Amino acid sequence: NRQVRLAKRPIGRPDDSTWEIASEPIPDPSDGEFTVQVDYASLDPAMRGWLDDVKSYVPPVQIGEVMRAHAVGRVVASRNRQFPEGQLVSGQFGIQEFAVSDGRGALVVDETLAPAPTWLGALGFPGMTAYFGLTDVGKLEKGDVVLISGAAGAVGSIAGQIAKLKGATVIGIAGGREKCAWLTEELGFDAAIDYKAGPVGRALRAAAPDGIDIYFDNVGGEILDAALGRLRKNARVALCGAISGYNATDPQPGPSRYLSLLVNRASMTGFIVFDYLDRFAEGMEAMSDWIRSGDIVTREQVESGGVEAFGRTLTMLFDGANTGKLVLKISDN
Ligand code: NDP
Repeated sequence: NRQVRLAKRPIGRPDDSTWEIASEPIPDPSDGEFTVQVDYASLDPAMRGWLDDVKSYVPPVQIGEVMRAHAVGRVVASRNRQFPEGQLVSGQFGIQEFAVSDGRGALVVDETLAPAPTWLGALGFPGMTAYFGLTDVGKLEKGDVVLISGAAGAVGSIAGQIAKLKGATVIGIAGGREKCAWLTEELGFDAAIDYKAGPVGRALRAAAPDGIDIYFDNVGGEILDAALGRLRKNARVALCGAISGYNATDPQPGPSRYLSLLVNRASMTGFIVFDYLDRFAEGMEAMSDWIRSGDIVTREQVESGGVEAFGRTLTMLFDGANTGKLVLKISDN
């Protein structure tokens, strides 16, 4: 059972010295447990935060521990009736080829609805983050002008499509012409801004001349500042993430336009998708319906190479080398 363990806490960007590949016998399940062979692992920007020894919404991964990750795999041995042998399941199985679980946080995966990788994207935490971030935190209403950064990623691409389905005008911000074309031509965004091609502020003034009602922030930094400059009265900023600063070694400067919140009686609210676990059924039902009807386009970028490829695949997120949900293939079964 090959695994990725945390070897050293990174300063700045994780590199080869951050990880070590370990191997141990395939674990047997005890009473109430099952062993899963991991097929696909979810790669998430949040993983960077879990490596720092600081207080956060989850404890840090400890040195020597298997890297925490959400994954999908098949049950290969079971002493838990809810998860029989042969069943495809998702759960927090870590970056390893086999994992033992007692079933807590595990879910049965229905391959007839969507293939396994989609259960780490639209039907997993990214999809639920988009759903609750927009509807609950952003208080999305028909007619709103919604701006989304990181728009061609796992969360952003789903958030934009949900906003369209709910009758909003949607503007996405993403890096590169290809990603922007995908947003407007295939996902139905009304406009897309390539933040690598020029100043976002100017492009945003042109795309949203009357301002924005919701900013769904995945990136923070200068793009957040530009978005604050376009808030309308009673606007909502849903603070989902700030990937532009995740590898920073110095504290990041705050947004200089924060007074726009005061002027516009606007709010900025941080949220964590885990707080919505008791409402997941609602989000999953909506997402399943949209996938069945074809109203939501799902996209995963599946990288190969197994556990050895984990380190370099993770950094793709910080280079913008993914479109849609980034997934690592761990093993074939
Ligand atoms: P993505 O699939 O969106 O991948 C990350 C993307 O971020 C890259 O593809 C890249 O796209 C963009 N990016 C990287 N660096 C920068 C930068 N310096 N400036 C602007 N954009 C950058 O990841 P996820 O959808 O999984 O996550 C998106 C955000 O949501 C993250 O901030 C994550 O931490 C957060 N999140 C929060 C959750 C919560 O509960 N609050 C739950 C899940 C995710 P590009 O080519 O456009 O630059």
